[in-house]
Amino acid sequence: MSDHSARSTARSTALFDQASAVTPGGVNSPVRAFRAVGGVPRFMASGDGCHITDVDGNTYLDLVCSWGPMLLGHAHPQVTAAVQAAVSRGTSYGTPTEAEVLLGEEIVARTPVDKVRLVSSGTEATMSALRLARGFTGRAKIIKFAGCYHGHVDALLAQAGSGVITLGIPGTPGVTEATTADTIVLPYNDQPAVTEAFAQYGDQIAAVITEASPGNMGVVPPQDNFNAFLAQTCRAHGALFISDEVMTGFRITRSGWYGVDGVEPDLMTFGKVMGGGFPAAAFGGRAEIMAHLAPEGSVYQAGTLSGNPVATTAGLTTLRLATDEVYAKLDETSATIQRMVATALDKEGVPHVIQAAGNLFSVFFVNSSDSSRPIRDFAGANAQVLPRFAAFFHAMLDAGVYLPPSAFEAWFVSAAIDDDALAELESALAPAAAAAA
Ligand code: PLP
Repeated sequence: MSDHSARSTARSTALFDQASAVTPGGVNSPVRAFRAVGGVPRFMASGDGCHITDVDGNTYLDLVCSWGPMLLGHAHPQVTAAVQAAVSRGTSYGTPTEAEVLLGEEIVARTPVDKVRLVSSGTEATMSALRLARGFTGRAKIIKFAGCYHGHVDALLAQAGSGVITLGIPGTPGVTEATTADTIVLPYNDQPAVTEAFAQYGDQIAAVITEASPGNMGVVPPQDNFNAFLAQTCRAHGALFISDEVMTGFRITRSGWYGVDGVEPDLMTFGKVMGGGFPAAAFGGRAEIMAHLAPEGSVYQAGTLSGNPVATTAGLTTLRLATDEVYAKLDETSATIQRMVATALDKEGVPHVIQAAGNLFSVFFVNSSDSSRPIRDFAGANAQVLPRFAAFFHAMLDAGVYLPPSAFEAWFVSAAIDDDALAELESALAPAAAAAA
């Protein structure tokens, strides 16, 4: 396999070969395989603050943050200490524990949900929220938007973002037509399309699910109060509005994207940051709806490791440390990085669009005729010039900056990024911009 890197990748290459013998594609989640950008995925050995170090000893400034969770940076001393203390008391009992109650309270305090149920992944959260919405309304159909990714829930793997676009998979074999027969896929930010779907199927629609501010087709924020429009339309037709904040929750503000637009969903889903680097996620909503979940109600949902004491300790400690000052710093760091990237690309005449939703942002490499047009949907995101991104990505990697290995992903900052890290970024950007020209 060819590799673009000037750095040593001998050990990563050997591990990738070893991994490929026992795991499909050598990875446990497709986007990690570098298929969209080429080359050998780096196997990481450690992380410290805003840096990660691979098994060949190469250190990178990390702008992926484990795809979002590492808001405070890697191996944060207080999170590490709390986790070590939790582990030393035992790792799972299959009973209720105090940490999960405290994490539930923290989520309820920060968001509009009255009640919350903990699960282990964002996929489980959206899958369970859909089941609950269908159980509550007694209706079958759901609306999702092209380019929004809600995990690998069968019914939601239709025109999904994230790894599904990265690999160019339109839906996926294995998901039957019957499974997606009740999924209506509409263009994002398209109010007339939503109105039309409700006109046709209004009394059959259980829920509209959307990323609160999409980040899985690159960052494509809602326009013209799209979330408020969705909430209103759902209410008018007796459907539920589900806001997926797995990516944005506790990352964009202390209460996620809800802290930006204040639109009250009926159900919300959370993940990533709330697990502090461990598998923890949640869904929650109005008490009246959540009361339909077993054991209070009859909509079944469960999990052997749900509310795991180590994961909930990591999440709770992370959230308690994520104060308004931390979010202000994240905003400032993100804005600085966006400016630096724009300046470097402008200097080389590389056409691009940078879009942000709070501290989340992404850089779209577009044709020059598109560089002044905002990207508002999946079709816009798909018009990127992908080889430019691959060239940019590898030049950044060679210069010691780890970006998401796909043009369809958000870049994530951590509160551990300091002026020295920004100086590292500055020196990486000039050769990377030249490589993308
Ligand atoms: N929803 C959104 C908005 C996401 O970004 C993701 C993952 O990237 C998911 C759901 C699925 O979460 P998980 O990967 O934990 O299953």
